[in-house]
Amino acid sequence: MAKKQLTIAVIGLGSVGSMAAWQLSKRENVRVIGLEQYGRVHSHGSYAGESRVFRTAYHEGGLYVPMLLESRKMWRELEQESGRDVYYEVGTLSIAEENHPEYQTTLGTVRDYDLPHELFDADQLRERFPQHHIHDTDRGILDLQGGGLRPEVSVMSALEIAERNGADLRFNTPVLGIEEYSDSIKLRTPRETFTVDKIVVATGSWSARIHPELHDLLRLQILGLTWFMPRTDVAPFLPENFPAFLRDSGPVHVFGAPSFDGYSVKVCSNPTWDVVRDVDEVPLSYTRDELARIGQQIQELIPDMNPEPVRQSVHHCAYTPNRLPVVDLSESERVITVAGLSGHGFKFIPALGKHAAALAVDGDTDAVPAEFGLDSHMQVLRERGPYQGGGH
Ligand SMILES: Cc1cc2nc3c(=O)[nH]c(=O)nc-3n(C[C@H](O)[C@H](O)[C@H](O)COP(=O)(O)OP(=O)(O)OC[C@H]3O[C@@H](n4cnc5c(N)ncnc54)[C@H](O)[C@@H]3O)c2cc1C
Repeated sequence: MAKKQLTIAVIGLGSVGSMAAWQLSKRENVRVIGLEQYGRVHSHGSYAGESRVFRTAYHEGGLYVPMLLESRKMWRELEQESGRDVYYEVGTLSIAEENHPEYQTTLGTVRDYDLPHELFDADQLRERFPQHHIHDTDRGILDLQGGGLRPEVSVMSALEIAERNGADLRFNTPVLGIEEYSDSIKLRTPRETFTVDKIVVATGSWSARIHPELHDLLRLQILGLTWFMPRTDVAPFLPENFPAFLRDSGPVHVFGAPSFDGYSVKVCSNPTWDVVRDVDEVPLSYTRDELARIGQQIQELIPDMNPEPVRQSVHHCAYTPNRLPVVDLSESERVITVAGLSGHGFKFIPALGKHAAALAVDGDTDAVPAEFGLDSHMQVLRERGPYQGGGH
């Protein structure tokens, strides 16, 4: 007997939604509808801002490493299928004092998973990466599988392939309401109501607005990006010479990527911004004081940087209390939720898209760590309360 066709709607065509649409569009007997509140690849989502750091040596812990290795393969698949450059494997350098907890966890994942890497003491760091001002107590781990991703190009590519495979993607089409019935789900949009079998909810920072179960769990962290110009020469900061990096220097956490535009370098350090509940509470810009403080911090760590940013933008991301993502299949098996990527999830969105497709089409929960399920998150929420800030 022929298998029944499933109609699956992906709500939100940003980071996770674009990957879910791509993965679902490869499945047989699946009709994919994608609904996005803004236009195709916009500047309001958590993926905006030219680049994202990719790493497999992971201070967040070993639980993520299999998903990161899977995603690394899938970033290459995305490049092959789209013909676009998405991932620059220039390495990711973590610099911190040897006894810094995050340095130790990063080292732990390198050893546990035998990840290709190089280790540096302070003198070796100075010699190999003269762009950075190195303290005597600094140590470095270069994750050779790390590098820089191009988020807007990634989302555009995944959407393009999904459409080529037959997905019906609608832009400027916000989902205003979700009604679940025993045999279907109805999605209300301003012009049309869609009746589908299943939905993948990938609405990022807006999730609590349409998914009441997430209201207590998620909080939004404001996160900013700044780009600085080297005063003498951009060449040492081009991808062939400068790995993506993370630095912990006392209380200051700085991260950055090589120059993709050929004149400026993305180097960021976040002020202690409040945690908010809704995207409407996110400021549109940094204050002058914030920019001056960041410029000073950056110049101390990378002395050639002119301390006045040439570009800056303020964004947001939904966080869970323990910063693990939510990947959940509802009891009815009709609603798949992927949310709370907690400021570090872009790098593994291909794997999340694959998980979402497996949950929606096969009901297969085996590949998803139990810690990602909503039950587990709600337990953590009861024990710890919501995310309070301080994550980066
Ligand atoms: C400044 C910054 C720097 C970061 N740096 C890194 C990094 O270096 N490395 C890394 O791995 N991660 C990083 N992250 C984290 C990562 O970028 C985010 O976790 C990820 O992009 C979140 O993806 P998402 O799909 O949940 O949300 P989004 O990409 O924002 O997608 C949600 C989409 O849903 C749409 N939507 C919402 N509601 C509706 C509705 N009702 N109807 C229709 N559509 C709707 C939105 O318009 C949006 O397009 C960073 C995040 C920020 C903000």
